Amino acid sequence: MIKEKLEKFDKIVVTAHQSPDGDAVGSSLALVHYLKAKGKEAVVILPDAIPPFLGWLDGVADILYFEKDAALSTQLINEADGLFILDYNDLKRVGEKMGKAIEETDAYKMMIDHHLHPTDCVDWMLSDTNSCSTAQLIYEFIEDLGDLDLINNSISEGIYTGLVTDSGSFRFPSVKAKTHLIVADLLNRGLNHAKIHESLFDVNSLDKLHLLGYCLNEKLKVLPNIPVAVIYLSSAEQLVLKNKKGYTEGLVNFALSVEGVEMAVFLREDDKKVKMSFRSKGDIPVNEFSSKYFSGGGHKNAAGGVCFDGYEKSVEKLETVLYEFFETL
Ligand code: 5GP
Ligand code: MN
Repeated sequence: MIKEKLEKFDKIVVTAHQSPDGDAVGSSLALVHYLKAKGKEAVVILPDAIPPFLGWLDGVADILYFEKDAALSTQLINEADGLFILDYNDLKRVGEKMGKAIEETDAYKMMIDHHLHPTDCVDWMLSDTNSCSTAQLIYEFIEDLGDLDLINNSISEGIYTGLVTDSGSFRFPSVKAKTHLIVADLLNRGLNHAKIHESLFDVNSLDKLHLLGYCLNEKLKVLPNIPVAVIYLSSAEQLVLKNKKGYTEGLVNFALSVEGVEMAVFLREDDKKVKMSFRSKGDIPVNEFSSKYFSGGGHKNAAGGVCFDGYEKSVEKLETVLYEFFETL
């Protein structure tokens, strides 16, 4: 039983995926606050930095970043009795070095995640691919352990942040009655949801809004003969527009909202690689598209991938395979 197992652990490390989003960060912090409420020594270790729009969450200042602090992170991973893998299901999603450290530690490994096709890299797993977010699973984990009364404001805010950000503000089909029951319970426990929405969505920098305007005005286009809208952004453009981490989050959804469009791509040059975000409506499986062509994955209607062929070649490859993909549908 996981309950008995957990009781025995003193030192626990909580990890989430690279380029952490609201669900990864919210779930990790919520779980760490819960473990601390149970008297454990617990720390969040992420591969790389969080986006600024999540900077207000309680506990952010104590997060360790493997990229910045590899030695201390590796030491804590080694010394841990238990290690959580949150919001990812394959060690590839934390980068090579952090993945290796996790693989090599003797810590008991526990996965809590909602992505398809979890890999066999843990000792215990709570995987529900129908769940709207890992945050929902964190709540259900605490519920199963009979500890709902330990939920304090910091835990609540982390869970709510994950729920809101991964469900498109409770809009996606993955949202269930249970999701709203969880929110109702958090509200009964004193959660200030309006403050969270404001912190998450109403604090844009002028640079970010100018970047959004540029992308919508100059870069958004619909490809001929297939219902696909794209936005491409080169390194040079990002330099001029002073792009920062997190600024382009959600941009792909504008492309998907174009009338008649069924799939959207946001492609961004990022150092030596080109990152792509895919979104779709209905039955178009962008996770299959992404894993077939861009060593990526995700969910049916939201996935991501990567290409190492340089900006121009990546754009060329993307457009070629998009037409190929739509032939097969
Ligand atoms: P986003 O476009 O917001 O970065 O990612 C959308 C979804 O795709 C998320 O659920 C994320 O976990 C998944 N995803 C994004 N990038 C990758 C990737 O490179 N590999 C895999 N396997 N999944 C990804
Ligand atoms: Mn998630």
